[in-house]
Parts: sequence; C-alpha cells; structure tokens
Amino acid sequence: MSNSVFNFSAGPAMLPKVVMEQAQSELLNWNNTGVSVMEFSHRDPAYVAMAKQAEHDLRDLLNVPDGYEVLFLQGGGRGQFSAVPQNIASKTSTVDYLDSGIWSGYAIREAQKYVGAVNVVAGNQETGQGKAIAPRDQWKLSDNAAYFHYCPNETVDGIALHDIPDVDAPIVADMSSNILAEPLDVSRFGVIYAGAQKNIGPSGFAIAIVKKDLLGNPQPELSSIMDYQLQAKDNSMYNTPNTFAWYLSGLVFKWLKEQGGLTAMGQTNHQKASTLYSYIDGSDFYRNQVNPDYRSIMNIPFQLADERLDERFLAEAKEAGLMGLKGHRFVGGMRASLYNAMPLEGVKVLIDFMDEFARKA
Ligand code: PMP
Repeated sequence: MSNSVFNFSAGPAMLPKVVMEQAQSELLNWNNTGVSVMEFSHRDPAYVAMAKQAEHDLRDLLNVPDGYEVLFLQGGGRGQFSAVPQNIASKTSTVDYLDSGIWSGYAIREAQKYVGAVNVVAGNQETGQGKAIAPRDQWKLSDNAAYFHYCPNETVDGIALHDIPDVDAPIVADMSSNILAEPLDVSRFGVIYAGAQKNIGPSGFAIAIVKKDLLGNPQPELSSIMDYQLQAKDNSMYNTPNTFAWYLSGLVFKWLKEQGGLTAMGQTNHQKASTLYSYIDGSDFYRNQVNPDYRSIMNIPFQLADERLDERFLAEAKEAGLMGLKGHRFVGGMRASLYNAMPLEGVKVLIDFMDEFARKA
C-alpha cells in the first residue's frame, strides 16, 4: 500500500516524498561524516552551516525584510500562545484577538493568563452563503492594544481571512496551517509564528518571525527558552534545538525553492483547493459550510448527506489509500488537508473516490 497512499491529515501532515527519501538516504551518514545529523553537535561548524542555510532559505522564500528575527523554537504552535504575550505585552496591557475559530479560542484563553485584558474584537457569523468571519467594520478594536492577534487559517473550521487586516496595532498571526502556502507580505506583521507539522517539518518545532522593534521588554517570568530576544542573540541555540527537525525543515525549504517558491506553490494550492470546492459545490451529496470568500485553501471540511455513512466513507477511503480524512473530533464530518506536499493528483484521486462513493451510497 505504501506507495499509493495520499495522506490528507491536518497535522502532523504529509511531507514531500523526495524530502523524506533524501532524509532516509542520509539518515546514517549525513554530509559524508559517517554519523547521523541527529548525532551531531549543534555547535559543530557543519551543523551550524546547515542551520544558517535553512534560515537563509526561509528568509528568501518569504522575502523577510531586514529588521526581523527568524527564530527556530520548540513547543509547537501552542508554545507561542504564551510566548507572544510574555514577549511583547505587559501584565497590564490590553491585547486584541479576533476569534475566528477553535485555534483562535485556544490562543485567547492562553493569553488571558498573561495580560491585563484580552479584548475579543469579533467572531464568526452565519451568512446566507455559509459561515464567515465578521467583517472588519464590525470589529471592536481597542485604542491602545499592545498587539492584534488572529489566525489567518483556522485548521479545524476551514475558515480563512485572506486579506491582512487593516489595524493600527502590531499584527501577530498564527500561521501554523498556512505558512509558506502562498506569497506573503511579512512587512505587515509584528510576529508570525507557526507550529512546524503542516507545511514545514516535524511536530514540536516552531518558527517565529519577529519584528525587532517589538523586543526588549519581556515579562520577567518569561521562560528563557521562549525569550525571543535571547534566542535571537544565540541564533536560536540558547538551548539545544531540535536538530533533526531543523535539518528536515531545511530540506523542505530547499524543495520549496526548487518548486519555484511561494508564487508557484500559491498557484498550485489555489488550483488544488478550487478543484475540490468546485466538486463539493456541484454535488448534492457533499457540502462545505463556509462562505466562499472565507474558505481555507489548506483545510477543507466537508459533510456527507447522511452522517451515518461517515464511518463507511472513512473505511473505504482508507482501503483506497486515502488517509487522514476524518474531521476534527469537535466538528465531525470529513476534512481534507491540502498542504504544500499534497500533489494535485492526490486531490483528483480523492474526488474520483468521493464521486464513486456518492453514486453507490
Ligand atoms: N494553531 C493552529 C492554527 C493549529 O492548527 C495548531 C495545531 N493543529 C496549533 C496552533 C497547535 O499546534 P501544536 O499542536 O504544535 O501546539
């Protein structure tokens, strides 16, 4: 089965096959050294050169302007839920959060521990055409928020905000499930962070891209390993980094560059998503409940006409080599995650399967 499987898992997710093959081929003998990259000191010049190259490639891909730190951290996406307020807000600060879905909600509850007030500026609403994020003119922004936080791509809900919000406060974005999916104007952000396990590499690892202007006044209790400025000073090696995750992420960055960078990825990703949405919209057996203007290009939840068929759908999909399609336990139904590593072919195979299933059902 192994060669013909398409993995639609929301994360940890599919990684590019050629990257996995390269990692496999050099697992025991990295860089002709006779040892694995996992066994290397992070202080060794060969490792440091690899780590620097990975940072360089990430900066290149995202066109990160001068004046930003690029950090490689641990603790995944959720680690940043507390790192952000402790690094760039005080215990008396007000911070603004957009509540567009499950992950925004978790980020809000974590931030509440560290600041004076978390002001939720808006949430989602039903429209005639499905679920949507409240429009910008309904947001109740604070006058002097230390930052504005949002999650541009809600992994569970499949809801996305495609435009960078027009707000005065520094913008913090949880891009765990959409980083590197398409070109991005980093200069509009104060902090961008992402858990690695979707478009970057292994889980437990995280990237933070932080505007230097925001640093210098962390909360005193901030754990040193989460201190952006300290990690920046030590090139993200204040503590021993996850050396294997950094290496694998570096291979993914190289692969992305070989694919033509984020412009090319963005085109393919939009094509993959619109192919699946068009099929779902044209079917009377499947439905997606998100307003078309707010649909994620990475995570596509869908429901079957009769939820009693869910288990059979999943079992037959697995049999057909289509795995990871079960929706998040909070929302049920199905979800197809179409991260960078998923080829268009995988989407086509999925649609053929869905079509056949609907006809039989
Ligand atoms: N934010 C978003 C948008 C996510 O999708 C996830 C994980 N699915 C997280 C945060 C949490 O990431 P982690 O499990 O690495 O802490």
